[in-house]
Amino acid sequence: MPSKCRFCDKQAAVYLRYANLRLCKDHFVNFIENRVKGTIEKYKLTNRGDRILVAVSGGKDSVVLLDILYRLSEVYDLDIHGLTIDLGIHSYSPAYVKVANEHYKRLGVEHTIIKVGETYGFTVDDLAARWRRVCSLCGTIKRYIINRFAVENGFDSIATGHNLEDLLYQGFSSIVLGDLEGLAKVSPKLEGKDKLITRIRPLAETREKDILLYAMFKNLKFVKVECPYARGARSLRLKHILNMLEEESPSSKFAFSNSIYKKLGPIVSSFISKENEELRSCSVCGMPSRGVTCSFCKIALKANPDYKPKSLKLRL
Ligand code: SF4
Ligand code: ZN
Ligand code: ZN
Repeated sequence: MPSKCRFCDKQAAVYLRYANLRLCKDHFVNFIENRVKGTIEKYKLTNRGDRILVAVSGGKDSVVLLDILYRLSEVYDLDIHGLTIDLGIHSYSPAYVKVANEHYKRLGVEHTIIKVGETYGFTVDDLAARWRRVCSLCGTIKRYIINRFAVENGFDSIATGHNLEDLLYQGFSSIVLGDLEGLAKVSPKLEGKDKLITRIRPLAETREKDILLYAMFKNLKFVKVECPYARGARSLRLKHILNMLEEESPSSKFAFSNSIYKKLGPIVSSFISKENEELRSCSVCGMPSRGVTCSFCKIALKANPDYKPKSLKLRL
């Protein structure tokens, strides 16, 4: 006899071992939205009336994040605005930007698309042609643009689609490398200060598999093309170890995340926060920097000798 959903007479579409729940599609969608709501409330990710900048790449995590935040924006009285960065990776960026755009239009969400090439005179493809470690350069570029856009346009926080496994991978890897600063950043919320805007991760307690199922059950289009510069061997190995742990003990990922988010992270960040106090203003662009020139301006000046910092303020 087919198994029924725990909450209705429909046939179950999924079995969640970690919660011992069989759910139909509708109740699964409900379950995930409530899980995200639970994370928002438990970690006080938002305040009523907040203006939130949602970073949407067009991949499954950010598409699901936008969809759920849009649904919750009335409940929590949030004003959301989407931001998509066109990195100029020719075999990858156009498809992602197109899908992100389709979701903004479907939901009627205000949004901005920033083309790195047009704005700064170089693309991630250009960087990859000249330097190794392109992911680290690309990460710096994305963080800079998102933060600068949020600062200049008065957003209260930046929401990103980091899921449970992304953060556990970061936590695991920081512990293995003894990287305390990295460990302090493994949290559903990173409080901002001055020109560093608060970052929130509403999917921090939602499994990647559940995000994928949510997108499929809701027919949300997302891009699956992998970036040509993705390496990922190490992260895939660590994620594999986490999945093996989950096989043995279905709730182990949640236990691990709970101990990092609630115990280890806060202890470590109370030491690390002193370092942030030492941030100064970049001599080129005026954004927060550890040295005289910020990491973004260093990359930009090497990639384009004519680089000048650009305001990302919206013209309303
Ligand atoms: Fe950028 Fe690396 Fe991600 Fe590609 S895989 S989008 S280069 S961070
Ligand atoms: Zn049901
Ligand atoms: Zn700078």
